[in-house]
Formats: sequence, structure tokens, C-alpha cells
Amino acid sequence: MSSGILVIGDVRGGKPTGATLECVSEAAKLVATVGGQVSAALLGPGAAELAAALGRYGASTAYVVEQDELAVFRSGPYADAAAACIAAADPEVVLLPNSADGREIATRCAARLGAGVVNDVTVLLPGEAHLRATHPCFGGSVLAEKECLSALQIFTVRPNSFARVETGGEAVVVPLTVDFTPSGVLVRVVDVVSERAGVLSLEEAAVVVSGGRGLGGPENFAVIEELASVLGAAVGASRAAVDAGWKPSTYQVGQTGKIVSPGLYIACGISGAIQHKAGMQTSDIIVAINKDPEAPIFKFATFGIVGDLHQIVPALTEEIRRRKAAA
Ligand code: FAD
Repeated sequence: MSSGILVIGDVRGGKPTGATLECVSEAAKLVATVGGQVSAALLGPGAAELAAALGRYGASTAYVVEQDELAVFRSGPYADAAAACIAAADPEVVLLPNSADGREIATRCAARLGAGVVNDVTVLLPGEAHLRATHPCFGGSVLAEKECLSALQIFTVRPNSFARVETGGEAVVVPLTVDFTPSGVLVRVVDVVSERAGVLSLEEAAVVVSGGRGLGGPENFAVIEELASVLGAAVGASRAAVDAGWKPSTYQVGQTGKIVSPGLYIACGISGAIQHKAGMQTSDIIVAINKDPEAPIFKFATFGIVGDLHQIVPALTEEIRRRKAAA
């Protein structure tokens, strides 16, 4: 009988993503009620070298598929490899990060294996016979509770929803060889362009500084970037700033952008619309800089600064620079 939890992880920049480690840590917690063991899977060349580290977060076995077909992400071969890992681990529950890749793998595997899937989960709790997942809808204004009624339950987990907990164990690495389905490799990736190469990932950053329409123009993002640089932060943007063409869509935070949950989120010239809030409301500390004291963002910000961002942000940058130099 199937048992245990399998985490199918993401790799970025030569290491498992934070969301992958969060899924393994949560699996280690949930397995007490689900039963069985925690296993993990990493896909793509170089996976074996990285997989053992997942043991530190609670995985006892790490399946790896390193074949050349997985050199760049294509949903067909990745789903083939994920399905092979599911067959080897025979779990009751599969968790994946709620990344674009994770969602594609999850839905393809669910269709193939006749399993239920719930995407973008923020809470997972033991239910009577199945796990109960919370999935925020309508920009976070409604929390839907869902269960997969199938024998195999698949969930993609929103990054930063669970804590990363190192338990210090070691995973046994099990290499698998997959027979890829010919129809799964019909796509040839011609080029991969990383728009934000060398730039801190928004979803992984501990500090995020975002700019909105209140900046007044694309050139004024320079003050945001300077503050981000002294803080070692990633730069984000509201949809209004993205729609105006001031920043590419990869910078967008919110319901239709990236979901972030840093220790510190600084929102500059952002009103705090519900769709923006949906992407950053779980940040530990939210600092809002806005010239309108009635701006909605002040209702959920931890600290609010009422004033002109063109004066406040450079002053803040200068003060942080001064204190860092003095330290
Ligand atoms: P505004 O709402 O125009 O706010 C600008 C703020 O800047 C104001 O509060 C103003 O007081 C302040 N300001 C102006 N000048 C200064 C200054 N000199 N100093 C300080 N403050 C100043 N939005 C997102 O952000 N992310 C999403 O993912 C997203 N998804 C959406 C999905 C849907 C289906 C829809 C309908 C909307 C979505 N939106 C999203 C849009 C959202 O509703 C808002 O329109 C958007 O967030 C507003 O961006 P903003 O706060 O930058 O602009």
C-alpha cells in the first residue's frame, strides 16, 4: 500500500530552491500523521550531487534522474521523470513548490496517474482520511479548504508558507533511469534567456524593496535600486509600474505576479490594492512609504512613513549606508 510523502524539488542557480527545502521540512512534520517515510526527488543533470543535502531537512531517500533530456525544463520529459520517481517511492502524498515548473509537473502527473491536485497551497493539515489544504483565492480575500479524494494526493506549495527546519539527517541517493515518452520530447528549447541574471530572486530574498506608480516614472526606480543595494535586497514592482512599462513583468509582486514573504518588505509609492497585498501580506515586517495618509497600505503595514518617497527613500539609503560604514 502506498505510504509516505514524496517532495519533487526545484533546482535554481545550482541548488535546491528554498521552497523545496520548505516542502521537505513540512513533509517531515506531516509524515507523523500520514505514515511512512519522507523521500525527495531532484531532476536534471547534477541532481545527485545536490540531493543528499535534502536529508538534512528530513528526507530519508532522494531519487535523482540526471539524463540529458532534462538539461532544460520541458514539461513532458520532466513529468516522465517525476512519474518515475512517484512509481519508485509509491507515496500517498506528493508535494512540489508552486513554481511554474512545479505546477506543470503536478498537473501532468495528476492527469496521468488519476490523482487529485491542489495548487498554491499555504497550509496543509491532517484531515480525517486525506490532507486538508488551504488555498487562497480572489487575491487572498477567500481561503478555500480542499482535499484530494484520490488515493494519491498532489499539492503544490506556495513558497515561504512553511519553515525550513534542519534536522541533520542524511538521504540515501537512488539514481533512476527513465524511458521518456516520444510525445513528451516534441518541444526543442532553442534558447533560455534569463532576464534577471545575477539578480537576487524575488521569491528567495530576505528583503524586498518595491516601487509603484507613486515613483512617477521609470527613471525614479533608481532610488529603489539604491536602497535595495545597500540592504542586499531584491527589487519588486506593483502591477501599475509594470503595466506602465517601467519594469518587466518578472518584477511584479501580487496576485498575478510573484508571491513573496521576506523578513522585510518596503513598499514605496504603492497604494496597497488587494491584488498587491495578496503577493506580500505574509512578509514579517512591512514598511510603507506613501504621501497619502489614507492609503490602504497603512492598514496592514507594520510601520508607515507618510511623505514624499523622493525625499524619504534617498534619506533612508543614506542613513543605512552611514550606519553600515560606522559598524
Ligand atoms: P496606485 O494605486 O496608483 O498607487 C500609487 C500610490 O503612490 C498612491 O497611494 C499614492 O498616494 C502614492 N504616491 C504618489 N506619489 C507619491 C510620492 N511622491 N511619494 C509617496 N507616495 C506617493 N497589482 C499588483 O501590484 N500586483 C498584482 O499582481 C496585481 N494583479 C491584479 C490582478 C487583477 C485581476 C486586477 C484587476 C488588478 C491587479 N493589480 C495588481 C492591480 C491593482 O488593483 C492596483 O491597480 C495596483 O496594485 C496599483 O499599483 P500602485 O499601488 O503602484 O498604484
